[in-house]
Amino acid sequence: MDDSLYEKNRLLQRKLDNLIKQAQTNERKQQLYESFGFDIIGVTTPAQLSELLLCQMPKRFQLLDVTLILIDHHQDTEHLFFNPDEDVRRYSTNRLIILDTETDAHLIQSLPDRPLLGTDVMKKYRSMTGNLNSSLQVKSAAMLPLMRSERIIGALLLLSHDINRYQEGIGTLFLQKLSAMTAVAIENCLNQQRIKEISYQDALTQAYNRRYFDLRLKEEIARCIRSDDDLICMFLDVDHFKKINDTFGHQTGDRVLKHMVSLIKEQVRSCDIVARYGGEEFVVALPMTTIQAAHDVAERLRLAICSATFNFNDKPLRFSISIGIACLKSLMTIQPLDLDTLSAALLDKADQALYMAKSGGRNQVTVYGSRPVPMNSVQGPS
Ligand code: GH3
Ligand code: MG
Ligand code: MG
Repeated sequence: MDDSLYEKNRLLQRKLDNLIKQAQTNERKQQLYESFGFDIIGVTTPAQLSELLLCQMPKRFQLLDVTLILIDHHQDTEHLFFNPDEDVRRYSTNRLIILDTETDAHLIQSLPDRPLLGTDVMKKYRSMTGNLNSSLQVKSAAMLPLMRSERIIGALLLLSHDINRYQEGIGTLFLQKLSAMTAVAIENCLNQQRIKEISYQDALTQAYNRRYFDLRLKEEIARCIRSDDDLICMFLDVDHFKKINDTFGHQTGDRVLKHMVSLIKEQVRSCDIVARYGGEEFVVALPMTTIQAAHDVAERLRLAICSATFNFNDKPLRFSISIGIACLKSLMTIQPLDLDTLSAALLDKADQALYMAKSGGRNQVTVYGSRPVPMNSVQGPS
């Protein structure tokens, strides 16, 4: 073989080797994107979604960091993402940005409608990554819009320390597929969360319903036993509610119930669980609380209600509530009880305390095991 033929052959061989290498790289890339695609489509909760996108994705794709931007079209994204699973905050500090459609309108307008890749992407979106520790090491980035039904619902910002990783117009097909699957997963996840919330909510008052309360009470009891904390259960009942309905009408009665929930929520912490247990009865679980602190909360609430004059349809209305309280620690025996028994016993004791408050003359707070307060020492409407 002469030299030129040999050289040609060598060049061809090198080209072929490069092509094989490229094909292998593409196959690996495709496998990586495909397996990630399967995982993202399978997520059902915001916690899984944030863990996969914000924790696993940087490792699996060898990225410096990932930021998820969500547009809060229904004013519920923050609530759906962080409630009740507060663990989501752990994964998403500075990496999950929720944009308000009004106050963040300029940022939303700056999001691209097709993948934007390159070294200038970081400069353009610095305000969205300024809080990341890694922001100074970013050399190239990809901003991927997340679209559903031709509407932008957010964006995924992929940050790399490799200047060649994201270049304008190169490799956008994989990224387009990835962002399409992520958008489906996010919408699916938020919708599932919405459905879950509806099934746990009381339709009239938007407080939690009894089903949810029973579930959460057991979880919170288990948590408090583990940390050796007390948990308080409060039973609240509107006094002479039937008379309110009879005098002011059923619709006004409904408004009183709705207002009750906002009054209760004003007095308790966000970690306390407020539920409508039935008719005009409400329950509150206060984890990691002492009986004294819970009594103060109940007394403040009782006073706030009985000393106010409410105005429904321009008609002045006054009413009062009775509250029964019981604490988990008073139920702890040497023999460990199961969660079903404990939660049923706790509710029963709070209900018994409520009964004592009612029979003691209403408009009062009674702790299970204590004596009802004589009526003449109770402050309230005459
Ligand atoms: P007490 O002080 O002993 O608790 O007396 P009460 O009148 O509050 O209690 P009672 O159990 O006699 O009456 C409760 C009333 O609550 C009767 C029922 O019609 C009314 N109620 C139950 N659910 C609703 C509701 O969703 N909306 C309205 N407006 N009324 C309701
Ligand atoms: Mg009542
Ligand atoms: Mg009742």
